[in-house]
Amino acid sequence: MNITHLSCVNCGAQYSEGEAMVCPKCGMDEGILDVHFDIPAAAKSLTRAAMAGRGPNHWRYRELLPLKDGFTPQPEAIGWTPMLEAPRLAAALGVRRIRLKDDSRSASGSFKDRPSSVGVSLALQAGKAEIACASTGNAASSLGHCAAAAGLRANIFVSARIPDGKLSQLLAYGARVFKVMGSYDEAYQLCTKACEKYGWYNRNCAINPYLVEGKKTGGLEIAEQCADDPPDWVSASVGDGCSIAGVAKGIQQMREIGFINWGTKMLGVQAVGVAPIVEALKTGKLDRSGGGDTYADSINCPVPRNWRKAVTYVRDSGGTYVTVTDDEIREAVRITGRFSGVFAEPAGAAAVAGISAARRAGIISADASVVAVISGNGLKDLAGALSAVGQPNIIKPDFGEVERIVESNN
Ligand SMILES: *Cc1c(COP(=O)(O)O)cnc(C)c1O
Repeated sequence: MNITHLSCVNCGAQYSEGEAMVCPKCGMDEGILDVHFDIPAAAKSLTRAAMAGRGPNHWRYRELLPLKDGFTPQPEAIGWTPMLEAPRLAAALGVRRIRLKDDSRSASGSFKDRPSSVGVSLALQAGKAEIACASTGNAASSLGHCAAAAGLRANIFVSARIPDGKLSQLLAYGARVFKVMGSYDEAYQLCTKACEKYGWYNRNCAINPYLVEGKKTGGLEIAEQCADDPPDWVSASVGDGCSIAGVAKGIQQMREIGFINWGTKMLGVQAVGVAPIVEALKTGKLDRSGGGDTYADSINCPVPRNWRKAVTYVRDSGGTYVTVTDDEIREAVRITGRFSGVFAEPAGAAAVAGISAARRAGIISADASVVAVISGNGLKDLAGALSAVGQPNIIKPDFGEVERIVESNN
């Protein structure tokens, strides 16, 4: 492994690789660890010439991932999703350029395939046969996919409001599913306890610092794909906070190893109804009272566990946060589909809605170039999608009806 040490995001204490999962001094709630790599060593081998010959998946960055020397990570085909130009979407939002980092077409349909594949690889490295997580949906369905592809048993704790699309994925992948008739937090506690009792590998992102390294590959790829053509902003929606912290860290590390010579501002997007990290950015601490709601289920995290990383990485990038309403997210689902051909789930479209909000607030200027991370596929939540996208033209099997509609330009 190319890891030098881990550090606590709260008190800064340092630990060696394998010594701790959370900082024992600061505890579960505050003592999240950050993983540090041997940057000079990575810089030697992760050169542009070397990268050109590597496979089209996120393991191409293995020097910056928690993988043992010689270990073959699984599943192979994760990451290296396309970066799509979206000129008509840019025109609709009033910015010069938009590129979409399209993780809606990842193996299980979301950005979570990145950390889940790292989780499965860590479990394999630890000699485990079972792995577990608690999730509002995508972490679960992606773990189901990655575990099945790698031959591990997945134990998944979901909350009662998981959309059917995600639930059906899990069951199809053969996971053991516990649908907890309670809050996400209660599902999370049960999962943690079961991992302790049965020795399952715990894939829960926040307390497992290595998993953010999987999310980091989104940022590593954005940096590589935009290497000679940097964006001014990268927009991503924020729930627990690991994804945006990971993306920011990836871009930062690509600069540290000298692959790129630029940085970019991060735009974190939360739903108006559930925006504890936006609050924490102002106050410097997290309000743990929870509450609120949004229909974008993947970012409905009232008590985010990785809030400190999400605040620090965004602030260090020179970026900021915005909030968007559920109606603005619905509008973003429509215009992203219509103007770019990408069908995003609500939490994915929120990144696009955030660009609009930031434009209106004068945070992003009209000549800006923006990358939006499309973190999940619209087919994951059909009820949510249908509430956003409108109705078909219902007609009798009669050509006159077709003419009436086409000629009235509906
Ligand atoms: C998990 C998820 C997010 C947010 O990631 P966090 O790490 O929870 O902040 C955004 N969009 C989708 C589709 C997700 O599944």
